Amino acid sequence: MADPRQLVPGTDRVLADPEVAAAAGRLGHRLVKHAVHAAQERARAGEISPGRIVAETLAALPESASSIRPVLNATGVLLHTNLGRAPLSDAAIHALHQAAGTTNVELDLHTGRRGPRGAAAVAALLAAVPRAEAAHVVNNGAAALVLAATALAQDREIVLARGEMVEIGDGFRIPELLTATGARLREVGTTNRVRLDDYRSALGPDTGFVLKVHPSNFVITGFTSSVPVAALRELGVPVVADIGSGLLHPHPALPREPDATTALSDGADLVIASGDKLLGGPQAGLLLGGAEIVHRLRRHPLARALRVDKLTLAALEATLRGPSTPTAQRLRQDRADLLRRAERLADLLTAAGIPASARRSEATVGGGGAPDVALPSAAVALPDRFAKLLREGRPPVLARIERDRCLLDLAALAPEHDELLHRAVLAVA
Ligand SMILES: *Cc1c(COP(=O)(O)O)cnc(C)c1O
Repeated sequence: MADPRQLVPGTDRVLADPEVAAAAGRLGHRLVKHAVHAAQERARAGEISPGRIVAETLAALPESASSIRPVLNATGVLLHTNLGRAPLSDAAIHALHQAAGTTNVELDLHTGRRGPRGAAAVAALLAAVPRAEAAHVVNNGAAALVLAATALAQDREIVLARGEMVEIGDGFRIPELLTATGARLREVGTTNRVRLDDYRSALGPDTGFVLKVHPSNFVITGFTSSVPVAALRELGVPVVADIGSGLLHPHPALPREPDATTALSDGADLVIASGDKLLGGPQAGLLLGGAEIVHRLRRHPLARALRVDKLTLAALEATLRGPSTPTAQRLRQDRADLLRRAERLADLLTAAGIPASARRSEATVGGGGAPDVALPSAAVALPDRFAKLLREGRPPVLARIERDRCLLDLAALAPEHDELLHRAVLAVA
């Protein structure tokens, strides 16, 4: 019998296969060649027949040259930081595609001269928040804090309540971020209580600004007090409000979540927020406030290091000007609809022999927003072994484990994704 190693086709022959060649055009030569070599190795080891090399190569190839791929969020956490927070609207995705090539991001097509970068995104932001005189966009909420601290309080003091010294997540702490800029922190009050007088006695010639931080990922209940922006303005020093989530207006379903318009109306000189939380847009840090203060931030040398790219500017503008975002839609769903979807899915899965049942559940906003709000939701319950299988499936599905059940919570999933979810479960069953 012939040695199977001699029947293994050469790399160039496999690469010449039309489907393999097409994949190389899409994914790059190196990645595909790597997969060919792996398939050849398996054939030489006798694990597959040489005739299977092309099929094996194609099966091993990733769908795209990037390893970031779509995941179905069935966790019931609307803004999951590990899953990229807010999914973009179709309008924002379209804008992102358009902006990906050569664009007019810094060119005035009418005059042919250099144009102000990001002006359209800022204009959209100001149209959405008329209370703001000016706005500036940086890389993320943390970058916005760094810019404000550096431009307004370097070698000076930021007065901040002890109960608002927040860790954002993954070990990032707002106090450490602020002191890294060369600003000094002046902590006032205790963990649970702070009064206006505590702030007042901390003020002095070195005060840069008073910072109000929204404790966006925890709640302290019981004997507590904090000082609202409307009272802090009486102190006569600049008030910066880090509202976190990027709500531009009050939201009826999230009554305790701060928003930019209210913070500015209450007298904040500057509002800081993220673009990819409740605003439902791309990662960005939004700075909204008075014309003079925003001008100082924009002209600071550090602003150049924190500026956003054309993709972010395009997606942000389209998020603001376009139709309601997926995040806004998910916040508006009612439980009856979610329960109907869960029942339909559970029926389909049961009919396929999978032990599934529909049930009520509670979802959360997540991603630094409304930590005390439970959103009425519904889920499909499966045996817990499904969680790992689904996470490793195609597309990967992230579920939630609750009392030894694998829950597929529908709150964060658009209805048009139900069919994908259905097929993903069938595929791993
Ligand atoms: C999320 C959050 C931040 C950090 O924003 P990023 O956009 O993640 O950098 C800062 N402050 C608060 C209150 C937040 O909730």
